[in-house]
Amino acid sequence: MCMCPLDPYTRPPMSEKDPKQITRKSEDFDRWYTDVVRRAELADYTPVGGCMVVRPYGWALWENARDALDAMIKRTGHENMQFPLFIPESYLMKEAEHVEGFAPEVAWVTHGGDKELEERLAIRPTSETIICSLYAKWIQSWRDLPVLINQWANVVRWEKRTRLFLRTTEFWWQEGHTFHETSEEAAREVDTMLGCYRELIEDWLCMASVPGRKTESEKFAGADYTLSVEAFMSDRLALQAGTSHHLGQNFTRAYDITYTDRSNQLQHPFQTSWGLSTRVIGGLIMAHGDEQGLVLPPRVAPVQVIVVPISRSNDPDASRLVDDAVDKLERESQGLVRLRTDRREGVRPGEKYAHWELRGVPLRVVVGAKDLADGMVTVVRRMDADQQRLPLDTLAVQLPRLLDEAHHALRAHAQQMLDEASREVATLDELRQAFADGPVWANAPFCNTPACELAVKAAVHAVTVRNLRADRTADGAPCLACAQPTDHVALIARAY
Ligand SMILES: [Zn+2]
Repeated sequence: MCMCPLDPYTRPPMSEKDPKQITRKSEDFDRWYTDVVRRAELADYTPVGGCMVVRPYGWALWENARDALDAMIKRTGHENMQFPLFIPESYLMKEAEHVEGFAPEVAWVTHGGDKELEERLAIRPTSETIICSLYAKWIQSWRDLPVLINQWANVVRWEKRTRLFLRTTEFWWQEGHTFHETSEEAAREVDTMLGCYRELIEDWLCMASVPGRKTESEKFAGADYTLSVEAFMSDRLALQAGTSHHLGQNFTRAYDITYTDRSNQLQHPFQTSWGLSTRVIGGLIMAHGDEQGLVLPPRVAPVQVIVVPISRSNDPDASRLVDDAVDKLERESQGLVRLRTDRREGVRPGEKYAHWELRGVPLRVVVGAKDLADGMVTVVRRMDADQQRLPLDTLAVQLPRLLDEAHHALRAHAQQMLDEASREVATLDELRQAFADGPVWANAPFCNTPACELAVKAAVHAVTVRNLRADRTADGAPCLACAQPTDHVALIARAY
């Protein structure tokens, strides 16, 4: 175990019953984030420096997001497969920019048992190199194209600083890899997959986001260009939530992948890769969470509805009424929603409410004898504490609609926060003014030259050009830094 006194792993365990253990979000966002992740039992630190453990509740959340994306990946014609965890050093070294980009983060295996290896093996930081080496054998003719594959895997990038879900040495992701006959076809693929990421982020995770193209300095090492979805966090920072890269022929040349084209000429195929990781879980926590803890998007919440029965041991008739109502609800909601009942004994209702609020469960159904006397139960929505009394008889079939309403309300709230944080700026001075009172999302005409990108970074502490917006054009307006006419609108923000 790391003996560093600041290592959070060595902090004393937190008490479930002490709500003060969550730092106030408004006071210290970073500590609030870590408190929520740990107390809601999503993930925790481990004795292995830089590595996290994803606990069952967190893994169920990831699985739901993963399954949604996996369905999109398959819907768009891709197949899953699995490559080795290890990559021979010589493979990694073939594409110069790629090596330079990843070298500082690679973990190496030097021994097998007590024998030193003749060639070091990298633990995959990403799999382009080994995939290219294998497909060099498998791609022979234009008939073998396109290749559309994906792998769900863990990868390792040695990190000095750890933040649960956001920055860990080992993380989980999917990496898609495709090969095409033409650059245009590869470009369409890159757009399609960015569209899938946006669908996951907005339609499943309820976040607000901006799609666009990365600048030269921010693109993937070895790519022609990179597209990204930048998701809006409630502290007004950006999180790069998914990226899709057009690799051109850079890797297929370096790895000597050739095929015979339709006119019998030898060609290098065009390639793409695209990835989305467990980082997105950190994103949805920061996008939606509040002072009480997590607020989970209904479509991926492991528990969508929590039922809290209010029983009194001194009134067996009332208790039986409550028990019967809960049984009916459980029976009738099967297959409709993910519903769970909190039957823990010796825990007060208020503690149960706080427990499930911390865990972000979208709907709470309180079943008590008093309401039941009128055939009613009380339903409370997590995101805004909206409360309604509804008839027990039809509640089960109403639950999917109530969850859908919660979904749209959460999505609209995220969009509203993004809209409120957005600023239009025309000059570097206006950019400075926009950030004077804290972070915003600034939109500005931007010529996309390295000099102007440096000027933007120098103008305001810690901001970057997140991307060139795919959904907007500057129509020849002057660049905020050099005043040359441009069509690009840059999204400028601070980011995780
Ligand atoms: Zn410029």
